[in-house]
Amino acid sequence: MTLVRTTRDSGLKRRRFLVGAGVTAGAGALARHLPLNVIRPATAADPVPAKPNVEVKHTVCSHCSVGCSVEAVVSNGVWIRQEAAFDSPINMGAHCAKGASVREHGFGEHRLRYPMKLVNGKYERITWDQAINEIGDRLLKLREQSGPDALMVIGSSKHNNEQSYLLRKWASLWGSNNCDHQARICHSTTVAGVAQTYGYGAMTNSFNDLHYSKAVLFIGSNPAEAHPISMLHFLHAKELGAKMIVVDPRFTRTARFAHHYVRIRPGTDIAFVWGLLWHIFNNGWEDKEYIAARTFGMDDVRKEVAKWTPDKVSDVTGVPEVSVRMAAEMLATNRPSSVVWCMGITQHHVGTANVRALSILQLALGNIGVQGGGANIYRGHDNVQGATDVGPNGDSLPGYYGIAEGAWKHFASVWGVDYDWIKSRFGSKELMEKPGITVSRWFDAVLEDNQYVDQPTNLRAVFYWGHAPNSQTRLPDMKAAMQKLDFMVVIDPYPSMTAAMHGRTDGVYLLPAASQFETQGSVTASNRSIQWRERVIQPLFECKTDHEIMYLFARKLGFGEQLVKNIKVVNNEPVIEDILREINRSCWTIGYTGCSPERLKLHMEHKRDFNPTTMRAESGPCKGDYYGLPWPCWGTPEMKHPGTPILYDLHKSVAEGGLPFRANWGVEHNGEPLLAADGSFTKDSEIDTGYPEFDHVFLKKLGWWSELTPEEQAQAEGKNWKTDLSGGIIRVVISHGCAPFGNARARCNVWNFPDPVPTHREPLVTPRRDLVAKYPTYDDKAAFWRLPTLYKSVQDVDFSKDYPLIMTSGRLVEYEGGGEETRSNPWLAELQQNMFCEVNPEDAAQIGVKLGEFMWVETPTGARLKLMAMVTPRVPVGLVWMPFHFGGWWMGEDLEKHYPEGGAPAVRGEAVNTGWTYGYDAVTMMQETKVSLCRLVRA
Ligand code: SF4
Repeated sequence: MTLVRTTRDSGLKRRRFLVGAGVTAGAGALARHLPLNVIRPATAADPVPAKPNVEVKHTVCSHCSVGCSVEAVVSNGVWIRQEAAFDSPINMGAHCAKGASVREHGFGEHRLRYPMKLVNGKYERITWDQAINEIGDRLLKLREQSGPDALMVIGSSKHNNEQSYLLRKWASLWGSNNCDHQARICHSTTVAGVAQTYGYGAMTNSFNDLHYSKAVLFIGSNPAEAHPISMLHFLHAKELGAKMIVVDPRFTRTARFAHHYVRIRPGTDIAFVWGLLWHIFNNGWEDKEYIAARTFGMDDVRKEVAKWTPDKVSDVTGVPEVSVRMAAEMLATNRPSSVVWCMGITQHHVGTANVRALSILQLALGNIGVQGGGANIYRGHDNVQGATDVGPNGDSLPGYYGIAEGAWKHFASVWGVDYDWIKSRFGSKELMEKPGITVSRWFDAVLEDNQYVDQPTNLRAVFYWGHAPNSQTRLPDMKAAMQKLDFMVVIDPYPSMTAAMHGRTDGVYLLPAASQFETQGSVTASNRSIQWRERVIQPLFECKTDHEIMYLFARKLGFGEQLVKNIKVVNNEPVIEDILREINRSCWTIGYTGCSPERLKLHMEHKRDFNPTTMRAESGPCKGDYYGLPWPCWGTPEMKHPGTPILYDLHKSVAEGGLPFRANWGVEHNGEPLLAADGSFTKDSEIDTGYPEFDHVFLKKLGWWSELTPEEQAQAEGKNWKTDLSGGIIRVVISHGCAPFGNARARCNVWNFPDPVPTHREPLVTPRRDLVAKYPTYDDKAAFWRLPTLYKSVQDVDFSKDYPLIMTSGRLVEYEGGGEETRSNPWLAELQQNMFCEVNPEDAAQIGVKLGEFMWVETPTGARLKLMAMVTPRVPVGLVWMPFHFGGWWMGEDLEKHYPEGGAPAVRGEAVNTGWTYGYDAVTMMQETKVSLCRLVRA
């Protein structure tokens, strides 16, 4: 029996309506449920059966970053069926439940259908013209009164690369760095930690490359549920003999496959990794040659690791000594070994340090830059990687160029817009070069006393552009901020919980955005492969694509011309291919330059030619390329670089996808060399030692300058490999077998971070008060990403007596992110109908709650969440676990009536983040969602 009854297809509702209004009106109501493009005037039947106009469109699942291909069968503009793409080297015909049901986007009953505005507590329909004009006027007034930094734009990791890039450009031309997106709260710590260690903030190998692994450590990662199709690749490796270690506080669905399961106390990952390294160093299992040639600062790590004797590790982490040793031995004696991590590692106040500890572990074992090794970091949404690479980040322009004057001048030149004009759009040059407010804290920038906010005014308006608020912590504070704003705008295919939780009576606009299946463009999977999505159907209802909405607002706000200076606009839509070409012309740093629309389309069309283990095309027109041209794909598209399947791999020439570590920090530090040792270089390199990054001076010294064409010389003069718009420096350097960014050592000591060598610090809200003095957190900070940020003053308060249970959170296979989209999909909603909390039988017995009964989870913030008890030994005594995809309830109250009519998701429940406590990573402002305290009360 179907238990899920969606609002709009309720038989009861329809029957009542038909009785009350007559059949004609009823038919009209039913017609409203159909996409506009399937409603046609009635005509006489054609005696000759019409030939169905059936097409297969190639697209990519939008629910996680694995990047599974979907074949969408479209008949006369209607998406009638979907098939798994058997020829995709990534999913090879497999889909998880989410991927198998993406066709629901072709109908999307719970979607926003037309623009709306909140009037006296009710959402009313308005036109697009009214929406753009009214919101635009309010924005212009806001700008006049308070300057451009009074607006916060929260973008989406579900935007394709082109939309992400355009949104960063949009915010820049509006004149603010107050823009951010989902990656802040899922993998910003990964990006910072990995980039500062190796050079690039990305997964080093691919899902497929796990086939070569002899052992894999999954830590803070549950791919069986979060990235299901990636498990196929690991299970293949397991069949070939790979050992599997899973480290997680909860016995996950991934853990049941493990040879060795390690139950760890949340928030003690660094102590555990140092425990592994203690055994590795003590047994001489480290790769000494690799460490000597390719790393900097490993001796500093040795000193820290020496403190972590097995007994100490066991005391802090809760893991038996023998278990730590077994994990270390499995990794060390089954090489190449790989490490996979996710948000169990990243979402901590020490998230960046956690990431660096794992990055160092892989360096010590010599596992970076080798097949079957790597730091494999599975991102969340379909385009977290791409949006991070080229999208709305408050501390960088696209391509990780940063926001210093040189970066702005580079992009002013690419955009064809005067640098001084862009500068005039900002409140000041200082604000132009100051990282903006983050998505994790925007509400503090509304509520905080202005004297403590490091910009002239508080935030007064927010654009939620494809982002779910319930994926952020401290929701009661967010609700208070929503009420204080002048106005807020939600732009999304679904209304998201924003539409229901604010408690306002006016000043909220809902604008219907098209989904990724109603546009085209490129999307970057977690392994850096870039895939082209074809448009499957035209935007439903009155939905518009995000890039059209960006353009309409830019025109109204007076910078439409600058936004699309080099981009053709057709029917108000900036042409996606032209946007990608602008990315190709600008993002040299990460090699988004060789991936032209033509090359990406060719890859999608010829997926079958790519080997599912090596990802290389063995025949056909893409022969020699790696699937999706995993970045860096160097030089211009004409250079035909094949993409880089494994980062930092010395065994291949750079022209064939090889790379050393990046020289990003100078040539020496405190007298120690930062460049690679003599004899450590990529295959075919004409320089057989370390070297710095290339610029016009270095090229001239080497005598290679004359190899540039006169046109290239004219453009490259005074430039380096990142700013030479001709691409000539990169072309010549690679022809000599060298890497444009130099050949350096990976950093085990990041001297510019709060902890140069990662250091265990007790969680801010911890049950182990006895460890606080020994492993304290950081001091409070006065201005960090424009806001005061608390550490010590949070940790100083002892909550453990009143809140005795550790709480943590994670993912489910059925849902994704904030979940509005997947919880509105009847096929998925059927599978998981209740928000729940996993509790050990002993803890459940303490409050007398049984499986399926409701209970309250209370947290130190005063929040109370009403949840169904899932009594299970999957979680240990003293710990509860909750999924984070739910929303639509507010501390026991169902918010259904607060959504626009018919827009509430089919499944609603408490958002775990309503109760989450304060905590932010000391480098990136990542929110803490993996360790806090709570108590249970029987409902
Ligand atoms: S959700 Fe992820 S694993 Fe599942 S089909 Fe989509 S891309 Fe593949």
